[in-house]
Amino acid sequence: MSEVDEQLVVEQVLDWFHGAWDPDLSLLEWRERLVDSGWAVPSWSSDWFGRGLPAWTDRVAHGAIRAVGGVAVPLGGGMMLAAPTMYEHASDDVKARLMHRTLTGELTWCQLFSEPGAGSDLAGLKATAVLDGDVWVVNGQKVWNTSADHADMGILVARTDWDVPKHAGITYFAIDMHQPGVEARPIRQMNEYQSFNEVFLTDARIPHSDVIGEVGGGWRVARATLAHERAFSVQRSLALAPDASGRVIDEARAEAAEYLKTYEWYPQRAGRADLVAGRAEAAGRADDAIVRQQMMRLHSFQRASQWTADRAKAAREPGRPPGSEGSIGKLALSEVARRSHAVHTAIAGAQAMLRDGDDPLDGVVSEVLLSTPAQSIAGGTDEIQKNILGENMLGLKKEPSVDTRIPFKDVGQ
Ligand SMILES: Cc1cc2nc3c(=O)[nH]c(=O)nc-3n(C[C@H](O)[C@H](O)[C@H](O)COP(=O)(O)OP(=O)(O)OC[C@H]3O[C@@H](n4cnc5c(N)ncnc54)[C@H](O)[C@@H]3O)c2cc1C
Repeated sequence: MSEVDEQLVVEQVLDWFHGAWDPDLSLLEWRERLVDSGWAVPSWSSDWFGRGLPAWTDRVAHGAIRAVGGVAVPLGGGMMLAAPTMYEHASDDVKARLMHRTLTGELTWCQLFSEPGAGSDLAGLKATAVLDGDVWVVNGQKVWNTSADHADMGILVARTDWDVPKHAGITYFAIDMHQPGVEARPIRQMNEYQSFNEVFLTDARIPHSDVIGEVGGGWRVARATLAHERAFSVQRSLALAPDASGRVIDEARAEAAEYLKTYEWYPQRAGRADLVAGRAEAAGRADDAIVRQQMMRLHSFQRASQWTADRAKAAREPGRPPGSEGSIGKLALSEVARRSHAVHTAIAGAQAMLRDGDDPLDGVVSEVLLSTPAQSIAGGTDEIQKNILGENMLGLKKEPSVDTRIPFKDVGQ
């Protein structure tokens, strides 16, 4: 991509925007215009809401719209996980029914993958879907499902064949969360937030037409979602221009505030490296040689890993699907969180445990200490990222396993 190309896209999108923008529309009406214009996902094909342009044009188009006070695509798992997975793997029928409403933000999504006995070993999942006429009936339990208590739809993986090896018997579905067979129970975390849920599926029903990919081909589709997940970082705001106003803007602000409630603690989960220097000054520890060394190691690691992430992002911009480099980025984020955790502890000592107004940062540091462990678990643990890198990038032998060739029903349960 050259600057000239980028400038051309900015001009084209703004040309369209100035003719289409009306701040008195509802958010939904505005997003319908945006999606219909092809500028919500310009990198997608013109058959499916796009313009057939290179992958980098999505970022450029969204940035250009926001920079002039407009509203771009919604935040969240619908846009980042469900939409790209459906674009790559769903039938035309599913795309026609679900995609438009996902891109406008009318449908929100959650991810129903993990189970009590299947997290890292996701292919060992046991939630089971059985075909009854043209409806799949699903029973089982999912867990750690972010936003499942208020999502409209879920991307679900379930076992549809126990007579084949574990990876071959999985099917990927879009499930309606608003039905009697789906019960989401929020889980309170050790940092006191409630971002995720247990989800109980009891005779939940999914029309056969809502299978994504092939029956029994769900593992391939799930891997696509997981690759998007590793490449995805939670956006902290809709990046609305500060002086923007109007009905669309008010509704977009309300939508973002609602969405961001779930992710309020995510900056703390990442370690808050940005607070370290100020905390060291305030606590009179900035001259301590050990603390200074730890701070420098943290900042240089963070800077270097940001460059690696930027390189990976640039490599994806021509349209290459996310690959193993997402695992490097994910590991680096875990390491930044761990190092930040250690430096905050070194600076604050026992005060790091104070909460609710006792601490100079009103408990932010204690929230960092209670939240950073999640960074190295969500979206695939550190050990799993290392396995991926070992196998896919270093060409090491696959981990020995005893359960990948025999029918899943014969695997010791
Ligand atoms: C903040 C957050 C949000 C989440 N959101 C969602 C969501 O929206 N939807 C969803 O479905 N899930 C979600 N999860 C769940 C997440 O995907 C799982 O927690 C994760 O995959 C790990 O699975 P597990 O917890 O069962 O741990 P396990 O798989 O039981 O792992 C336990 C430990 O064993 C290690 N281990 C396991 N297998 C191996 C191996 N082969 N080699 C080396 N070490 C291994 C792991 O690294 C880990 O340290 C979320 C988790 C978090 C923390």
